[in-house]
Amino acid sequence: MELWFTEMQTPYLKLSFQVKEILAQTKSTCQEIVVLDTEVFGRVLVLDGFIQVTQMDEYIYHEMISHVPLVTHGSPGEVLVIGGGDGGTVREVLKHPEIKKITLVEIDAEVVEVCRRYLPETGSYLDDRRVHIQIEDGLEFLKNNPEQFDVIIVDSTEPVGPAKTLFSREFFRSCWNALKEDGVMVSQTESPFYNRDILERSFQLTRELFPRCGTYFAPVPSYPGGIWSFTIGSGRRNPCKIEAKEKAQSINTRCRYYSPHIHESSFSLFPLYPGKGEG
Ligand code: SAM
Repeated sequence: MELWFTEMQTPYLKLSFQVKEILAQTKSTCQEIVVLDTEVFGRVLVLDGFIQVTQMDEYIYHEMISHVPLVTHGSPGEVLVIGGGDGGTVREVLKHPEIKKITLVEIDAEVVEVCRRYLPETGSYLDDRRVHIQIEDGLEFLKNNPEQFDVIIVDSTEPVGPAKTLFSREFFRSCWNALKEDGVMVSQTESPFYNRDILERSFQLTRELFPRCGTYFAPVPSYPGGIWSFTIGSGRRNPCKIEAKEKAQSINTRCRYYSPHIHESSFSLFPLYPGKGEG
């Protein structure tokens, strides 16, 4: 008997793929957590019916959400990751030798445990001594924590359920307040085809606060539409033109997708968004 998983990508569009085995299926206080083993994508983490991470393409998403802001900053010591309980973003941030501390604020402790067990290529990096895991809502953490960060990476789920607040004006302002003067913030901002409203709003919220901002894109075949967007704001340096060239080159040697060329060109990948990579 064949077993298939279907994601409702929009109310009118589905993605289906064959499942070899259901490795885990549990309900936490926040969401339903499922790990599948599949032919096409390898292991897949699904939360509330939405694909989060696949072994086939997670490296592109995680390299791009991490290295574009970290290279833009140039010398990041303290990084805050909001969401990201699978550990993929943490793995990429740890590639930067000057990192002293990564604070990971994940709302769901069970995601962390499931990923440690079933997705070790990302989950095992959560045990690095520089990683401090806080199980809490991202906005609540920012309201109560006085620390200042060099870079904030918002690696969240879709803006439904627990992640809704992470797309609000209050949240963007709280991130801005928690950054040092030359700080950089990036958010995953969904599909440029199917979630244009979310992308446009996140860009506006970023532009209201940060002197420099842009939207960049990367291919992630398992996500709706296959192209994903990231919106970045920077206190000082232009995210669209690399200043820390040596840093970009040295990170390039440790990546499968990110390179200085990809970094700059990812801002102009999408003619639907003219002027978005304005720096
Ligand atoms: N790469 C993924 C994507 O774009 O689909 C995101 C993956 S990561 C697993 C997203 C994480 O954000 C989830 O583990 C979820 O529990 C966490 N999350 C959702 N809302 C949150 C909130 N308000 N505060 C902190 N973490 C949150």
